Amino acid sequence: MGKVEIARAILAAEAVKRSADHQQLRLIAELDDPHELALLSRIPPGMARLKLEQSAALARLPVLGELMRAGLLDLDRFEVVRKWTQNLDTTQAQTVGAGLAGAAELNSKELRAETEALKRSSAVSYQSMPDGMALLTAHLDAVPARAIFDQVDADAETLAEDGRTWGEKQVDVFVDRALGKGRPVTVRTDVTVSAKTLLGLTEEPGYIPGVGPVDAATAREIAAQGEWDRVCQVPGCTRPAMQCEIDHARGFASGGGTDACNLGPLCRMHHYLKTIGLYRFTREMDGVRHWTTPLGFVYTTRPRPIAEPEPP
Ligand SMILES: [Zn+2]
Repeated sequence: MGKVEIARAILAAEAVKRSADHQQLRLIAELDDPHELALLSRIPPGMARLKLEQSAALARLPVLGELMRAGLLDLDRFEVVRKWTQNLDTTQAQTVGAGLAGAAELNSKELRAETEALKRSSAVSYQSMPDGMALLTAHLDAVPARAIFDQVDADAETLAEDGRTWGEKQVDVFVDRALGKGRPVTVRTDVTVSAKTLLGLTEEPGYIPGVGPVDAATAREIAAQGEWDRVCQVPGCTRPAMQCEIDHARGFASGGGTDACNLGPLCRMHHYLKTIGLYRFTREMDGVRHWTTPLGFVYTTRPRPIAEPEPP
């Protein structure tokens, strides 16, 4: 084969790959299950969630999806646009996407610049809704956006229980702030665990974000065991096994030790999936584990050796 034919063959293979990526995203959207996908494709859950977000973006960016299907746009460049339009509402994303019909001719850097330019055209938008409500959208830097969001929450927390939902309180304080009627409220910052507690100088409880308070003894025990680096035992998952280490430590403290978590460490997400019965986990005498997914696929893993504690 001459070099020209080789080059054409590479291009043809690339077009097939782009089209196949598009087809796979469509199927991933239909499956709509990042956990099953992670195991199917042997990718970490975070990557599976990204795939699912990409698949959902096909509906938000139909013009770009069509370019992919036709073999003219690759997944990497589609991802550039998806990433830079992910915080827009569907209508705004579709508007930006419609302006990128020439995306096939642009490299990823040019595509990102073009996407940004199209986004800047609608910094704050107003969209009336049919029920007398309206959608007010602001597109701005993440840092001030987060500060505004946290301030709204901090303000809302100062309101008394008066039958308003949390969302109603958020909107009320947001309106007060925007129209200049806000009161000074300091935004709270979460602290995890103090050094004094770790050193045993106080009995202040520790706090684990997303988990809740843990007593000082538990916090110290976990830290002393150095088990924070242990990861979830579900194939491909790389998350630290936070939830189960806590259950494990409590089990020991109360003289227990054979709770379900002792089958092996699980991250909070996979522990939850097991607890609600979506996944079935079993262990054989030699420690080999079997994970059965809702679709009936069985994945087998062997326990990973963990470091022995240093002799005193
Ligand atoms: Zn996990």
